[in-house]
Amino acid sequence: MSKNILVPIDISEIELTQQVIPHVEAYARQDDATIHFLAVIPDYTYFASYGLGYASISPDTIAREAAAKETLRDIVAKFSLPEDRIEMHVLSGTPKDHILQLADDINADVIILASHRPSMSTYLLGSNAAAVVRHAKCSVLVVR
Ligand code: ADP
Repeated sequence: MSKNILVPIDISEIELTQQVIPHVEAYARQDDATIHFLAVIPDYTYFASYGLGYASISPDTIAREAAAKETLRDIVAKFSLPEDRIEMHVLSGTPKDHILQLADDINADVIILASHRPSMSTYLLGSNAAAVVRHAKCSVLVVR
């Protein structure tokens, strides 16, 4: 069975993505794996609980997901990977939850992510990376 690599991408942090590119390319070369890129964008449905008249799914959500998919496409173009082995996912909500859920859904063999924003130099592991390392059922490569 072919392998599945999950690469969560914070589309607002290009430096984090630069860190993982060579590692993703190296893993992808090892076997004919499918590389799943995931971008999670904030979900404003939270505000519905304040009774401000928001629909349970914000009408903007589809437009924001479409815009995020364009940005993700540009980012993925920086990786040297065969196009037919790339899948892109854009979801709204909490990054760590969606990363863990998608890893289960695609039966991921490995998750590859950067450890933390370079600007947060006092932290060894960002909050999403830490949660993924703690809860993922598959191997996780944390790139520093
Ligand atoms: P920090 O808290 O320093 O930003 P994070 O743990 O949030 O560190 O980020 C580390 C990694 O987590 C990123 O390189 C990316 O792989 C993943 N990640 C963070 N935010 C998102 C997001 N919105 N969508 C997808 N992946 C994300």
